[in-house]
Amino acid sequence: MKPIIFTQAMIFDGTGRDLFPGEVRVEGNRIVTVAEGTEQLSRERAEIINCNGATLMPGLVESHGHLSWPSSVGRIFNGMMLPPEEHLLVTAHNARVTLEAGFTSVYSAGSLGARFEIALKKEIEGGYLPGPRLISSSLEQGPKDVLGVPPAEGNKHGRGVDGMRAYAAEMAELGVESIKLLLSGDDAFAPGASQNLTYTEEEVAAAANEAHARGLWLSGHAQSVESIKIGLRHGFRILYHCSHADEETLDLLEAKKNEIFIAPAVGLRYSRLHEAEAFGITREVAEKMGVFAEVERMQKLYPEMRKRGIRVLPGGDYGFPYNPVGRNARDLELFVKLFGYTPIETLVAATRLGGELMGMEVGLIKAGWLADVLLVEGDPTQEVQILQHRERLLKIMKNGQFVA
Ligand SMILES: [Zn+2]
Repeated sequence: MKPIIFTQAMIFDGTGRDLFPGEVRVEGNRIVTVAEGTEQLSRERAEIINCNGATLMPGLVESHGHLSWPSSVGRIFNGMMLPPEEHLLVTAHNARVTLEAGFTSVYSAGSLGARFEIALKKEIEGGYLPGPRLISSSLEQGPKDVLGVPPAEGNKHGRGVDGMRAYAAEMAELGVESIKLLLSGDDAFAPGASQNLTYTEEEVAAAANEAHARGLWLSGHAQSVESIKIGLRHGFRILYHCSHADEETLDLLEAKKNEIFIAPAVGLRYSRLHEAEAFGITREVAEKMGVFAEVERMQKLYPEMRKRGIRVLPGGDYGFPYNPVGRNARDLELFVKLFGYTPIETLVAATRLGGELMGMEVGLIKAGWLADVLLVEGDPTQEVQILQHRERLLKIMKNGQFVA
């Protein structure tokens, strides 16, 4: 493949600095040179892409992905489970939809099929199916016998220290990269359930130790203070929602801000409040699910996390019928609208910080980095919502290849 030069670009490099004019050269799957200002890169052998002042930026990272949650923009399913053959194909479709929405990386927050994401990732990496880079996850795991937690599937090992250790070992052998545990319940499952711990700390420790020993990461659904503390004590990579975090918990999160990632997954909450009536989630139902109170708590909490420099990432539980896959970029707008982030801070969270979460050289326009790049018509550092408009994404490049 010929090297590619993006010229006449306004570059958002993901670090947080303002747009600057420049050129970028891509060879193979890497960005090899970033030139600022009027410096012209060698044109030798290269294919030239004139950006005409459009914004060149890193591909976006979804921090709470569920490619197997079936609904996507333009294709709504009224439930969550499908027959396995259909379900896997729909999951593959959702991978393409996600990529074409500008998300070149996804950290999975749980799968509905034990091996869906492992199989899918192989196809994507082999170049046989389009899709984002993926950190694959286990099933979303909560125990069977706890009030306010959806019935667990897939853990045939049962509870207790031995069961949890065996479970983590099995996940490692299957080949998943991240284990998702429901550390707390959720008010959306049953009123008040967000205060329930779903596992004992010994059980979480057993799963976490086994996971760490085998090089797996852990992600946790954690609403209550105690569940967040347990996640922090046992080296979880990312904790979701955290809406009950208090002052002391914020101090703990801040003290570990170079280790932990947080994602509110506010997209789902927002859609339950404003767009889910047709699916039976009336105001009254949303009230019962605690959504109003949760968003209110989040609107106090997340500006505080922002101030403290805690790494908070967009990623919004897309895949429900009223919150379909492909709408992922709306989370960025919600960070601005609800949490007081500037567009640039939000973009940094969705790119550089997302790259840190993935543990890959993505999320920056930087020499040596992987060539995951978007060319966007307009200036998302002024109007972050333009990323939601498919027609504004003039080019999407993943791993040095144009996908759309
Ligand atoms: Zn989720």
